[in-house]
Amino acid sequence: MAKIVIVGAGVVGLGAGLLLCGDGHEVVVLERDAGAPPAGAEEIWGTWQRKGVSQFRLPHFFLARYSGLLDAELPEVMKALVTAGAVRRNPVLDAPEALRGPAREEDGVFGCISGRRCVVEAAVASVADRAPHLEIRRGTAVAGLITGPSAGGDVPHVAGVRLGTGEEITADLVVDMTGRRSPLPGWLAAIGARPPDDELDDCGFVYYGRHFRSADGGIPPALGSLLMHLGTISVLTLPADNGTWSVTLVTSAKDNALRVLHDPVVWEKAVRSLPLVAHWLDGQPIDDRVMAMAGIEDRHRNLMVGGAPVATGVVAVGDAWACSNPTAGRGASIGMLQAALLRDTIAATGLDDPWQFACSFHHATAEMVEPWYRDTLAADRHRLAEIDALIGGGEYRPGDPGWEIGQALANAAFKDPDCLRGFISVAMVLSRASDVTARPGLLDKVTALGAGWRDEPIPAPSRAELLSIVAGD
Ligand SMILES: Cc1cc2nc3c(=O)[nH]c(=O)nc-3n(C[C@H](O)[C@H](O)[C@H](O)COP(=O)(O)OP(=O)(O)OC[C@H]3O[C@@H](n4cnc5c(N)ncnc54)[C@H](O)[C@@H]3O)c2cc1C
Repeated sequence: MAKIVIVGAGVVGLGAGLLLCGDGHEVVVLERDAGAPPAGAEEIWGTWQRKGVSQFRLPHFFLARYSGLLDAELPEVMKALVTAGAVRRNPVLDAPEALRGPAREEDGVFGCISGRRCVVEAAVASVADRAPHLEIRRGTAVAGLITGPSAGGDVPHVAGVRLGTGEEITADLVVDMTGRRSPLPGWLAAIGARPPDDELDDCGFVYYGRHFRSADGGIPPALGSLLMHLGTISVLTLPADNGTWSVTLVTSAKDNALRVLHDPVVWEKAVRSLPLVAHWLDGQPIDDRVMAMAGIEDRHRNLMVGGAPVATGVVAVGDAWACSNPTAGRGASIGMLQAALLRDTIAATGLDDPWQFACSFHHATAEMVEPWYRDTLAADRHRLAEIDALIGGGEYRPGDPGWEIGQALANAAFKDPDCLRGFISVAMVLSRASDVTARPGLLDKVTALGAGWRDEPIPAPSRAELLSIVAGD
């Protein structure tokens, strides 16, 4: 069994800690932010300070892939979420029977459990805090890496971390889970490693979100998908814990005319103009303002450059490995998928040969996790280009059959039970679109029912109407 240091106690970092200690490893999680979660959802929302996670109070939803992983691997976290007031949803079974058809045995796979990000993270932390062989040290900033004898050529081997205080903690493996703004390249440079291969892109979206609470603990009914693309804006309506929910408008960062959405009055007018969404405003706002976030990067980090690891004894997992536009809400699902893979790779390969482990984990991630990231990235790029085209008054016709089929599937989902399940499988990170459309007969249905999607837009104001609404005309 190994001694493993995880740097970062975010929602995935803590989940990874639980998976690894569950396999018998001694795990230490080092977190820069000092504050531990207080008791009670409202205290958590109101007082837990987490400067290290910019999106800490921005809307989140935890998809079926994440929930399924908790059910299978960390049932005690699932229990803690229920106790904390997290909301259960099943986007297939919650749909009208006329749409989904009779319930099917396999429909349980679509079950989600979700809540406000801080409440979910606190529930994971509550289980991590009492897990054997797992120590969480908050208020403990890692400042760099320490090295030991190389496992191959001039490639440095990481043997632990150095804290801001100068204290050194040795480990068989250091797992960078410091999130989107991971400082790993600087730490690697300081030990003489070659730089990792980072692909970086500003994802080009801006988020304008607010949370609400009902008087009676209820949550407004969904009249469409959790995520809807409505011309030049997208909207997320996300049920959360304890009778709370969020509404978020997502625009292109280049769309200057919509920057006024950070004003709560303008934001509310815009949301009210959306027929399938306006009723989500029927609650008490629990943010004192519109929470906005821009400058969100799509970033993928590859620690295997030119066929060799840039360092051994260190890996990047979760957002520290790859993060993309969060509209699709995939971060925690993909992160936990990779965390489980890390545990399984250690079990299969061991850490005695650090070079072999670095190669095995890299290849496993590339094969089993990276495709989810690439799918998300491709969808983001299309969506941004679509918004650009619509702002310019044109139509978006990229000539990409995969994208056209994806749009047709989203449309056909509201007409056929198999298409509905296929669409939701993709949205919930259960299946890739290419696997769904390979199901016998599905592509024919998608084409027959959904190919006319351009002629059946979701009801929403036109671009001109939206601009006039936000301008207060
Ligand atoms: C606007 C927005 C909305 C999102 N919505 C969703 C959603 O609906 N569903 C979903 O699944 N995902 C969503 N995501 C993504 C999700 O938030 C991330 O995938 C998730 O937080 C990743 O968890 P993590 O543990 O890898 O990193 P993080 O949660 O970012 O945690 C990193 C931790 O590392 C700590 N740290 C940093 N540097 C150091 C250091 N030097 N020493 C010690 N500790 C350090 C930080 O303080 C922090 O606690 C969203 C993201 C954004 C930006």
